[in-house]
Amino acid sequence: MSVGRATNAVVFTFGPGLAVAVGWLLSTYGVPALLLLSCSLSVASSATWLLSRLTEGRAQVRSRCAAPGCDFQVSTRGVDAAEARRWQETAADHPLHRYRNPRP
Ligand SMILES: [Zn+2]
Repeated sequence: MSVGRATNAVVFTFGPGLAVAVGWLLSTYGVPALLLLSCSLSVASSATWLLSRLTEGRAQVRSRCAAPGCDFQVSTRGVDAAEARRWQETAADHPLHRYRNPRP
């Protein structure tokens, strides 16, 4: 099993597992079934989204423009070193610089 598949398995197991745990805890307090369901689903979706964003960010490579004030950047994922280097050169030599606060 590759690292990416193992990470996905952990992410998509932890979220529903946490939802079941929260649902079980809430059920001991006599929470109505529909409220229990909505709370469990929101916990599952939030935990899965958060973990997937955290694991995506770890595998992502960002290349930024070196021009002062330019916020242009390229994000890549799952590329080899040569392709990452090409994207880095592209980010450093793009035709139109973008400035967050353009000068008047
Ligand atoms: Zn630029």
